[in-house]
Amino acid sequence: MAYVVTDNCVDCRFTKCVEVCPVQCFHVDERMVYIDPDGCIDCAGCVPECPVGAIDDEYNLPDDKRAWIEINRDRAAVLPRLTGGMEPLPGAQQRKAELGL
Ligand code: SF4
Repeated sequence: MAYVVTDNCVDCRFTKCVEVCPVQCFHVDERMVYIDPDGCIDCAGCVPECPVGAIDDEYNLPDDKRAWIEINRDRAAVLPRLTGGMEPLPGAQQRKAELGL
């Protein structure tokens, strides 16, 4: 099992999740973060840190989010590891509001 970042993270990238991850298994691009499923130890520590509810374990994902399992694996394999928090993207608060959060 692994935890998965989904589309709620797109254009937010708050990265509070990264700050609490004990194994530094997050990777990043210009729009969001991804979890390396081979590095994740399933501690669930990142889940309550995400202000937009973007992270869940793969077995809880609804059908319309399951594609994110493979996306996280593929993107984490080719993107740089993120070892600390970053400033949220400029539109993060607006996107959070659009998500009703
Ligand atoms: Fe890191 Fe734990 Fe979240 Fe996996 S579940 S990404 S190990 S904080």
